[in-house]
Amino acid sequence: MDLIRVRNVEKKYKNGVTAIYDLNLAIEKGSFVFVIGGSGSGKSTLIKMLYREEKPTKGQIIVGGLDVAKLKNKKVYKLRRKLGIVFQDYRLLPKLTVYENVAFAMEVIGAKKDEIRQKVLKALEDVDLKNKVHNYPDQLSGGEQQRVAIARAIVNDPKLLLCDEPTGNLDPEKSMEIMKVLNDINKSRGTTIIMATHDKEIVNKMKKQVVTLKDGHLVNFKQKGTYDNEAV
Ligand code: ADP
Repeated sequence: MDLIRVRNVEKKYKNGVTAIYDLNLAIEKGSFVFVIGGSGSGKSTLIKMLYREEKPTKGQIIVGGLDVAKLKNKKVYKLRRKLGIVFQDYRLLPKLTVYENVAFAMEVIGAKKDEIRQKVLKALEDVDLKNKVHNYPDQLSGGEQQRVAIARAIVNDPKLLLCDEPTGNLDPEKSMEIMKVLNDINKSRGTTIIMATHDKEIVNKMKKQVVTLKDGHLVNFKQKGTYDNEAV
């Protein structure tokens, strides 16, 4: 079954730049999909449209049964509860511990303390950080901070995890640790993962589905794809 359907989507920004042209995609539940392409190819724009940070100027986007572009602003929370987001720059709260950063994502939706404790510890175990629960973000390496951000993104059991260049600030070794964590989450929790990246080594090693964008156009969508040098 498809978790995401993108139909004839165009995104033209107010300054006249078209970032995405006539895009069609169907992404099955449980998939792990890389979105690749050179700088300015439209990767971030696509990710942003999936969580309604941006709206398409044409076409339709369905995520988990919700018609994303048509959602009223006050209903966007329904979409946001279906997904978690991880950014390149972690975006942790510096004055909260690792535990508190992850728990915060559950507190804001009104979860009970016992459930919070159980799920936060499970999420931190899934990212292999159970030994750092009382540390503050500035006491962690970049790779560890990104793993906290991943724990925060999955703690409410979203169906979809969106990652925009999650390894962009990390060296190859730390990047592979992040990829192992994401792969385990995809396998053990069944979370659908969409990850924008321009890291060729990662894409070639992981052998996942690959959506290649070039200048806003879909070049191809491959199963067990590799980094398409021709296209990028
Ligand atoms: P990528 O993530 O692949 O680097 P983006 O989606 O960020 O690509 O950008 C695609 C195109 O859209 C680029 O030409 C970029 O300059 C343009 N763009 C991105 N965001 C905006 C914006 N908020 N306003 C105007 N143009 C934008």
